[in-house]
Formats: sequence, structure tokens, C-alpha cells
Amino acid sequence: MSFSAKDLKAFLQRVVETVEENKDYLSELDRKLGDGDHGVTMSIGWQAVLGKLNNELKDENDCGKISISAGRTFLSAVGSTVGPLYATGFLRGGKELQGKNELTGEDLYNFWTAFIEGVKERGQAEVGDKTMIDTLQPALETLKQEYASSGSFAEAFSKAVASSKEGMESTKDLISKKGRSSRLGERSLGNQDPGATSSHLILKAFESVMTS
Ligand code: ADP
Ligand code: MG
Ligand code: MG
Repeated sequence: MSFSAKDLKAFLQRVVETVEENKDYLSELDRKLGDGDHGVTMSIGWQAVLGKLNNELKDENDCGKISISAGRTFLSAVGSTVGPLYATGFLRGGKELQGKNELTGEDLYNFWTAFIEGVKERGQAEVGDKTMIDTLQPALETLKQEYASSGSFAEAFSKAVASSKEGMESTKDLISKKGRSSRLGERSLGNQDPGATSSHLILKAFESVMTS
């Protein structure tokens, strides 16, 4: 398994595209649970990342710098809850990649582990709180188990994406305990969480670039 700085940039580019494709859908989900801006928020943040990809990052080959720049850019562009959450993921993940132009399966494993642990630490949400952690935590658990048993990052990651989908879908039947939607209490039942959905889209974007 080899993944270059070019592939990492292709992943970020793919996230930009999937966020644009799902912008209205993400806001629609957030209209039922929050303030209806999740698609807009994500779009603002990822368009800012796109600006970096097309300029400062054009000739950058240090994967750590690319990820850290994406995290910082997202943080300064986005005002809402997800700003510091996703930013922490890319900053922590990027720390694992510093000085590397070509990534091995182990580097990618370290990246995603640090990414998800970073989001967890930053948001302090648990599985069952109806947040992006309901998507990311099952993905991390599957990734750890499958990588330990098969040693293949690509195989383990694809299984992790499948777990993340189940986790995302599980948020429909949860009562929100964190963030804006927690004010709704039982009225949050029946609706899929927007952040859980965008997290799944990000993992899927990575899988599609990895397998292409
Ligand atoms: P805001 O609520 O500020 O408008 P967004 O609409 O962009 O922010 O994002 C809302 C999403 O943030 C929720 O759907 C949820 O998944 C996620 N979220 C909220 N609080 C937390 C938290 N403490 N930890 C992880 N994710 C969270
Ligand atoms: Mg919102
Ligand atoms: Mg908001």
C-alpha cells in the first residue's frame, strides 16, 4: 500500500466535491435537529481548503503540512461546532505524517487513529449521544480490530467505512445528548444526525481515493 502527497490532496479534493454534492442534504438534516446550517458550514470550510489546495499547497509534498494546513484553514473559516472538531482531526492526524511524502498503510492507520481520537478528545461525546462520534467510534474500533488481524490497511479501512455507515444510521434512533440538538430531547428521535452523516461522507471519500 502506498499513498502519496498527491493522493492526500486528491482525498481533500474529493471531500470538497462530496460536501458540495451533499450540501443541501446536510442542511436539511440540520433543519430537523439544529439550526439548518451544517451543509453551509461544511461548504464554507471546505471551499477554504480548496483555496489552499489551489495555491499554497499546490507544490507541497509534506503530508503532515498538507493535513495541518487543511485543519487550520477549516478552523479559521468555520464558526460553528464542527470547526474545532474536524480541525482537531486534521491537526492531530497531520502530526503523524510530518516530513513524509509517501505514506505506508501504517502511516495511514496512525493518521486515522489520531484523527478520530482527536475529535473524541475535543468534543467529549460518547457513543449514543447522537453526534459524529456515533460514526467515528465504530469506524475506529473496526479499523483497530481488522488492521490487527489482517495487517492490511486498505481492507481494514473499507470494513471501518461499513461500520461507520451503521453508526451513522443508528443516530436516527437516538436522543441527542450533545450540541444544539440536545435541546430537543425526545423530539430529536427519528432524524439522522448531520455531523454523523458528514463524518461518514469524509471516510467514504478517503476510501474512494484509496481504491481508485
Ligand atoms: P452548529 O450546531 O454549531 O450549528 P453544525 O450544524 O455545523 O454546528 O454541526 C452540528 C453537528 O456537530 C452535530 O450534528 C453533531 O454531529 C456535531 N457535534 C455537536 N457537538 C459535538 C460534540 N461535543 N462532539 C462531537 N460532535 C458534536
Ligand atoms: Mg447547525
Ligand atoms: Mg450553526
